[in-house]
Amino acid sequence: MYPAPFEYYRAETAQEATELLSKHVGAKILAGGHSLVPAMKYRVAAPSALVDIGRLNLNYITAAEGVLKIGALSTHATVASSDVVKHNCAIIAQGAAGIGDQMVRNRGTIGGSLAHSDPQADYPTLVTCVGATIKTSSGKSYNADTFFKDMLTTALEENDIITEITMPVYGSGTGGFYYKIPHPASGYAVAGAAALVTVEAGICKRVSLVVGGATVNPVRAVEAEAYLVGKAPTSENIKAAAAMVAQVIKNPMGDGYASGAYRTHLAGVASERTLVEAVHRAA
Ligand SMILES: Cc1cc2nc3c(=O)[nH]c(=O)nc-3n(C[C@H](O)[C@H](O)[C@H](O)COP(=O)(O)OP(=O)(O)OC[C@H]3O[C@@H](n4cnc5c(N)ncnc54)[C@H](O)[C@@H]3O)c2cc1C
Repeated sequence: MYPAPFEYYRAETAQEATELLSKHVGAKILAGGHSLVPAMKYRVAAPSALVDIGRLNLNYITAAEGVLKIGALSTHATVASSDVVKHNCAIIAQGAAGIGDQMVRNRGTIGGSLAHSDPQADYPTLVTCVGATIKTSSGKSYNADTFFKDMLTTALEENDIITEITMPVYGSGTGGFYYKIPHPASGYAVAGAAALVTVEAGICKRVSLVVGGATVNPVRAVEAEAYLVGKAPTSENIKAAAAMVAQVIKNPMGDGYASGAYRTHLAGVASERTLVEAVHRAA
């Protein structure tokens, strides 16, 4: 399939990109193009113009004073291989390494993935789990917990550009892991779960558990988190917590590959496996 005709502009600065987006009604931001271009080819999207932000200075990763900062144009491959990410928020590098295939990882960007908010994408689940903040060119900041609003819909205002994602760093005593059951064709999550667990003196002090892929947006498994806090991370307790995950999955998505009931089941399986590995890494 060929996309509908469109104009193409390349911005050198965020201000120029914003001006181009305002000037051309129906224009869309182009980053890695690995979600937008397929949508255009299927004619699910038919923007009047593309504003390419690839030359904006948003390809950086830094960590200082307990905060990891990832520029929105950092590709999945850059994040996956970054020692700064591995040392400060390893779950993000581990999750990025499992996105799609090498070609997708070489082009797709973290900002594009978050703005697109695909229900099966990995970054929405990961950034919600670590408590990330999403920053934009207009100066707005969104907590990941409230950023994803619906199917392919976020809190972003029209023409606003994601510029940076920040997240708290974690150190020894905290372990993180992302476990997904990937679709065999694309690698997208049929269901996935991200966990961060802090263990002190053999007791779970802090637990963050977020599941994705089963519903239109990632959901926090609040009952499972609360159940584990204050308990030893034994296999029995983890199993009991994972069994609570189904409670937060309202209106699970189903299709020809995996029904809603099956995705709900897989979310529990992924949660148990990811908690076991997160606890292992905390030690
Ligand atoms: C074969 C294949 C397999 C894939 N497998 C996976 C997978 O396993 N897991 C996974 O998570 N993803 C997967 N993806 C999606 C991939 O990760 C995309 O790269 C990503 O979702 C979108 O990033 P992008 O930079 O390509 O954005 P684009 O496609 O350029 O843009 C996507 C949307 O976001 C908007 N946008 C882009 N950047 C910004 C910004 N900075 N600020 C505001 N809006 C912006 C665009 O206007 C557009 O609406 C796969 C894609 C393909 C083609």
